[in-house]
Amino acid sequence: MKGRLNRRDFMSSTAASVGTLAIGAAAPKTVGDRAPIVIASGNGLRAVERAMQLVRGGHDPLDAAIEGVAIVEADPNDHSVGLGGLPNEEGVVELDAAVMHGPTHGGGSVAAIRNIMHPAAVARQVMQRTRHCLLVGEGALDFARAHGFPEVNLLTVEARKIWLRWKETRDANDDWLPEPEDKVAAYVRETLARRITGTIHCSVLDTHGDLGCTTTTSGLAFKIPGRVGDSPILGAGLYLDNEVGSAGSTGLGEANLLNLSSYLVVEGMRRGLSPKDAIMETCKRIATTSVRDPRRRRGDGKTTFNVSFYAVNKKGQYAGGCIYPGGSMAVHDGTSARVIGCDSLYDK
Ligand code: ASP
Repeated sequence: MKGRLNRRDFMSSTAASVGTLAIGAAAPKTVGDRAPIVIASGNGLRAVERAMQLVRGGHDPLDAAIEGVAIVEADPNDHSVGLGGLPNEEGVVELDAAVMHGPTHGGGSVAAIRNIMHPAAVARQVMQRTRHCLLVGEGALDFARAHGFPEVNLLTVEARKIWLRWKETRDANDDWLPEPEDKVAAYVRETLARRITGTIHCSVLDTHGDLGCTTTTSGLAFKIPGRVGDSPILGAGLYLDNEVGSAGSTGLGEANLLNLSSYLVVEGMRRGLSPKDAIMETCKRIATTSVRDPRRRRGDGKTTFNVSFYAVNKKGQYAGGCIYPGGSMAVHDGTSARVIGCDSLYDK
């Protein structure tokens, strides 16, 4: 893709920024004898590798998850999270993130936060350094500044060009004049050909059998300013119970807000369902409730949108699943890190 940073440029541009262990992470403790598991959404291969390295070194499972997703938050070539995330309809990048910590059943989140590359690490500070669970907008940004998070321009040149093309082509009667089609870069055309979603979720089961998880995102591309999705809402975009398991989601956030879906997955596992069955039961619930609204129902009676789930239980069993096929998840089972396909509720 023209104009993209190569790996070396990327590493040097982000070397200073990935380091979320510096603000709020605990010192490593002794390593236990349980086999650790790290899972993430399909864009999280580097995240599961890094998180596994950290839990093997005795780091807290939540700290490991946050540091893992920080690699993707700092990657300007990933348009779904952090730096390089696609902006809202006014061209401003607004991020949502949440964390949950198994051993303390703690949780924290930030929503519609601007200018901060690592919102998941800010969410950990909300959990640790306030009596609250959720800070939004200006308040979240002030809080991040107070804790020493640097401010950066999150809108990369590539993301700005994608947004500008979207803006210029929305309404033939407004006064924006789009560039001729043949001058438009291929990556701009390709990105705009579909509704852009994307998020990273990561759940970690550590060597003591303790859980931690985070979900971090720039949300739906070109969203209405101030829109908050499922990712920073505990129970919707992620949930865990240290005695049961951990789950998180990507896809159309509104569906998870309306069904408190990640909570449902964990509650399914509490009732004894496998991670796969708990996910499929949740997909079925969403598929059933959502189509009551004709705006969310296709001609064949199925949902107009997709959501994906990733879950790991206390025993270390894990699964990924979606309403429609094509989803993937990253997993590190202690032997190797790889991306595998998710099961789906429907064939098409
Ligand atoms: N769930 C995210 C949101 O609705 C978007 C995504 O996962 O693509 O904000």
